[in-house]
Amino acid sequence: MTTDAAVRIRSARRAFGTQQVLSGLDLDIVEGEFVAMLGHSGSGKSTLLRAMAGLDPEVTGSVLVPRERAVVFQNPRLLPWRRVLPNVTFALAAGDARQRGRAALAEVGLAAKEQAWPATLSGGEAQRVSLARALVREPKLLLLDEPFGALDALTRLKMYELLRALCDRHRPAVLHVTHDVDEAILLADRVTVLRDGLVRLDLPVGLPAPRSRTSPDFAGLRQRL
Ligand code: ADP
Ligand code: MG
Repeated sequence: MTTDAAVRIRSARRAFGTQQVLSGLDLDIVEGEFVAMLGHSGSGKSTLLRAMAGLDPEVTGSVLVPRERAVVFQNPRLLPWRRVLPNVTFALAAGDARQRGRAALAEVGLAAKEQAWPATLSGGEAQRVSLARALVREPKLLLLDEPFGALDALTRLKMYELLRALCDRHRPAVLHVTHDVDEAILLADRVTVLRDGLVRLDLPVGLPAPRSRTSPDFAGLRQRL
């Protein structure tokens, strides 16, 4: 089911054979709120994210999410036989697709790469294209599955700054899955922990959520690196 407002999940359950991965999970995300989710490998983070993306018909319970949603995976999943701009616009109806794609590429700092082939991009650039492809549709919900897991530390830091700025501008509801506690605390309005198929911890980072705290001091952080 879809909603235009935000995320409301009640009693979500998913099992693989005898293994219960989601055990009646509840989660709310309000409009414009950035929620990080931590959890051990195998705890069910990607399973939850797939359910929220509408990719898992077997999840039960109530999973209410906005109709317009976009997913960014750890692997950017660009189409290798298309240049950068058509990778960003391929899901858009014709019309002003090129214009919107160019604007999205400019927002992630890659206006100059619109004619490049994906294979020639660095890992960080490819992930920025994947972010542009997600945001070009103005999603109400952005789902991020360990999006920076394959990037080096300095590139990751730049990506934090970019992602936070993009989310502050577009204000989708965000679920950002990560292994990295620092990343979760730096980026999110709320940090949650998934364990035993349930949200076991759910803490606001700023006061009060969402997005009323000032942005993290990325410039200061960079100087310390
Ligand atoms: P996480 O993303 O937190 O690392 P996953 O959601 O990918 O965890 O997986 C949670 C558990 O569900 C794991 O034990 C995994 O092996 C199992 N699982 C995930 N997808 C499938 C599948 N399609 N078939 C069988 N088991 C699966
Ligand atoms: Mg995963």
